[in-house]
Amino acid sequence: MEKKTKVYAFGFKEKPYWWPEGFEFVPLNEKPSVDWLPDAPIVVHLKSVRSFIPLALRIARFRPSGRLPEAILYKPKGIKEPADTTPYFDAVIEEGEEERFVELLSCPLTLTIGEWADEKVVPGWLKEHIRDCEYCGREFVRRVGIHRELQAILWWKGTKREMSDDKIH
Ligand SMILES: [Zn+2]
Repeated sequence: MEKKTKVYAFGFKEKPYWWPEGFEFVPLNEKPSVDWLPDAPIVVHLKSVRSFIPLALRIARFRPSGRLPEAILYKPKGIKEPADTTPYFDAVIEEGEEERFVELLSCPLTLTIGEWADEKVVPGWLKEHIRDCEYCGREFVRRVGIHRELQAILWWKGTKREMSDDKIH
């Protein structure tokens, strides 16, 4: 059997009805031990966002990279998240958009790929990954500004299009 992708759930009492198959639901205690570092992304329910922020800051302090934990904010339909919580999340998913959850978590790079969207130089290995990975390619194109969009699409579709043209003609 295929191994499930681990995802921590913060502020969820039980596995929600929409939790996609193929993802392991790991409830995260609101107060994990002081030296705990996540080895998987965290999905945070909006109602627990205030208790997540100090945890996120602590994790960032303990990590060599200093980066905040990879995290997605999940919010009920039609409710706006407080503006000051935005910097703590790589993505926000609203109730009803759960398909995006699968897109963002199927490849471990997808959630952070947006950080490269504004960089002038993208490393070769990452360009290659963007081209080959359905999830990261789509997410990268979503995140880049309009003037770089064409370039991003070319990276993503480049090799694949050449290959499929060869096969067709
Ligand atoms: Zn990817």
